Amino acid sequence: MNTIDLRSDTVTRPSKGMRKAMAEAELGDDVYGDDPTVNRLQALAAETLGFEAALFVPSGTQSNLVALLSHCERGDEYIVGQLAHTYKFEAGGGAVLGSIQPQPLDFAPDGTLDLTKVAGAIKADDVHFARTRLLCLENTYAGRALPMSYLAEARAFVDVHGLALHLDGARIFNAAVKHGVAVTQVSQHFDTISFCLSKGLGCPVGSLLCGSHELLSRGYRWRKMLGGGMRQAGVIAAAGIYALENNVQRLQEDHDNAERLACGLGEIDELQVNYDAQQTNMVFVDVAEAAVSPLQSWLRERGIIVTARDHMRLVTHLDVAEADIDRVVDACKGFFAGQRQVRGETASAAGP
Ligand SMILES: *Cc1c(COP(=O)(O)O)cnc(C)c1O
Repeated sequence: MNTIDLRSDTVTRPSKGMRKAMAEAELGDDVYGDDPTVNRLQALAAETLGFEAALFVPSGTQSNLVALLSHCERGDEYIVGQLAHTYKFEAGGGAVLGSIQPQPLDFAPDGTLDLTKVAGAIKADDVHFARTRLLCLENTYAGRALPMSYLAEARAFVDVHGLALHLDGARIFNAAVKHGVAVTQVSQHFDTISFCLSKGLGCPVGSLLCGSHELLSRGYRWRKMLGGGMRQAGVIAAAGIYALENNVQRLQEDHDNAERLACGLGEIDELQVNYDAQQTNMVFVDVAEAAVSPLQSWLRERGIIVTARDHMRLVTHLDVAEADIDRVVDACKGFFAGQRQVRGETASAAGP
């Protein structure tokens, strides 16, 4: 029985084909700039997203941080979502290492930042204030693909206000697949984009920061300073090339599986599926707090791994097949049927 790990799409293991590409990669020393496989990956990423250049970095966290450091100087400010990964889940790197002040705002439920509120947060040119330089968006945000029209509005907005626009596009390909558009339709609006190879694309490690030559020439120095200068990195870059060539269109399968999972779990009275949030490869389900831990153990015994939370997030990815989804739904149904039986027995035991 295979293990089904629904905690995140980061848990994917490199496939046979990917490992073969890694084993056969032509290598150099990327700090000297002569690893041909890294150079190929960077060129492919830049071309795929429609940018002048791309920089291969070890993680999405470093990629976003290099972007912040390249856009902003000490005493500058960036506007970002209150629950954005860049702001909340990256240990405050922009503030710690760049002396960049974040100005967080609440996300709307669809993952957008209300541009009227953003306008209100932009500081005037005044010695009392930090200099507002950058707006940062996230797509997908908690599984939601930002509306395409909003991306164009955000671009027009930053142009009027003289800000740069960065996208934490860790899962940008999920957004493009969800909307059924070329990824360039999403990416065209941004000055820089960070995306992850290590999530739904199935690589063991790596992210890319896409931008102009000018911006990435600064980013190149920051990456080195942050410890992201890697040597025979072609071994992992080869996985990235393989992923961009083979694993993008198949994201639709993950979205279909997520929908199948949402529908299946929706048949269970004790679970509340958030159908609005179910757009790409994530399913959000509310579970009564008392059931969280026993449900997690029950599933674990059946080879299914989930994060124990009352707002459960279940993530599909290329190591989860359609049949696995049915196994998960059946296991959840079995758990709650068992609970009902216990309650029923208790009720009759307490009866006359
Ligand atoms: C995973 C993730 C990142 C960071 O990636 P790491 O490689 O884990 O550092 C950034 N933004 C979002 C939205 C993510 O989901």
